Amino acid sequence: MLWKVIMLQGEVHCPLCNGLMREEEGTGHMVCTRCGTLARFHGGILDAVYIPSYHRRLEELRRRHQELLEMIEAEGRKGASRDMRLIRSLHEERQRVLSEYSFYSYFQQFTERW
Ligand SMILES: [Zn+2]
Repeated sequence: MLWKVIMLQGEVHCPLCNGLMREEEGTGHMVCTRCGTLARFHGGILDAVYIPSYHRRLEELRRRHQELLEMIEAEGRKGASRDMRLIRSLHEERQRVLSEYSFYSYFQQFTERW
């Protein structure tokens, strides 16, 4: 998958959060006005990014995923008295965490090129 610069009336949007990006004068890269991500493009295709607190966010998501697994397992051990609604909502949160993790991970290759 390639990230093409989405240009609407000359506007460039952040590959991470879709916020508006503006050119940082004299640097050749763009900065997101919403999340602070820096991005460099070549021929309209994303070349490199710098995402503030990238590794911290990945670590948070890893930790939360582990916690959720443990909570699901602990609730499951209660057998017949387990709370199925709680288990379902933990599974739903786990799906959200995994999907954000995979979205963030995708940018690894671009952060390495920064
Ligand atoms: Zn952004």
